Amino acid sequence: MTWDYVIVGGGSAGSALAARLTEDASTRVLVLEAGRPDHIWDPFIHMPAALAFPIGNPRYDWMYESSRSRSWAAAASITRAARCSAGRARSTG
Ligand SMILES: Cc1cc2nc3c(=O)[nH]c(=O)nc-3n(C[C@H](O)[C@H](O)[C@H](O)COP(=O)(O)OP(=O)(O)OC[C@H]3O[C@@H](n4cnc5c(N)ncnc54)[C@H](O)[C@@H]3O)c2cc1C
Repeated sequence: MTWDYVIVGGGSAGSALAARLTEDASTRVLVLEAGRPDHIWDPFIHMPAALAFPIGNPRYDWMYESSRSRSWAAAASITRAARCSAGRARSTG
């Protein structure tokens, strides 16, 4: 098979880009997504009020952390340089 475009990452931007590109039915687009597919009955994705559940959950979040930061630690009133969670989605958008 051949593709006109290969999009790495099927999150928000990748999915929107794929949708726009395939409005021309002759354009072939491959989307590669490393996370799991979305599901219509998954409340943690579809209910904004459930935001606290997916963040920090490896099923939904790549669990990245920032590098150690003195300025962030100072803002959080922590004496030593500290890391903070840097949530990144892990599912099709
Ligand atoms: C748990 C959580 C909940 C959120 N809830 C909300 C909300 O309620 N409202 C809101 O406005 N924003 C929310 N956000 C923020 C929103 O998800 C992001 O701002 C938005 O998705 C960023 O879009 P993006 O296309 O830049 O990246 P993403 O949507 O993160 O897309 C990047 C995609 O690339 C994939 N990927 C990464 N590496 C590879 C690889 N090597 N190969 C293939 N695929 C790869 C990832 O799995 C991911 O799906 C939430 C974020 C998280 C983490």
